[in-house]
Amino acid sequence: MERTLSLIKPDGVARNLIGEVIKRFETAGIKIVAMKKLHLSRKQAEGFYAVHKERPFFNSLMEFMTSGPIVAMVLEGEDVIAHNRKLMGATNFKEAEEGTIRRDYATDIEKNVVHGSDAPETAAFEISYFFNSMEIVG
Ligand code: ATP
Ligand code: MG
Repeated sequence: MERTLSLIKPDGVARNLIGEVIKRFETAGIKIVAMKKLHLSRKQAEGFYAVHKERPFFNSLMEFMTSGPIVAMVLEGEDVIAHNRKLMGATNFKEAEEGTIRRDYATDIEKNVVHGSDAPETAAFEISYFFNSMEIVG
């Protein structure tokens, strides 16, 4: 069964949306096989988003991602990488489909409530960034 990494970003945690996001995953038949709350340091956030380090929004993204606690989860299910991306909606909430998490809750292109891995390789890297094998309970 496929796995992916999901993050509830600092805006989602601060706005008490943890339960709402989890409810959407469970309702969709996705299983949560690992979960923790943590507050990223600048170095940890930079390591996670290293692929974006040349982008103009990188510094702002780092400020945002370290601004408060996040919730990290490993999701499991059939085609869960694509399924989760569909539930999240487009990066820019104005372009996100109706009924998606970002369409319903994002307030800004940056403050878009959730992160989800976008491919099998990034999922493997991102899961191992937050969890060791003992912390994942299938
Ligand atoms: P994520 O990787 O967080 O799941 P994504 O894959 O939909 O989101 P990316 O292109 O990987 O989008 O961008 C990573 C994050 O950087 C976005 O979710 C958003 O928080 C921020 N971001 C992306 N594009 C912009 C932008 N043009 N201006 C400001 N922030 C942006
Ligand atoms: Mg991305």
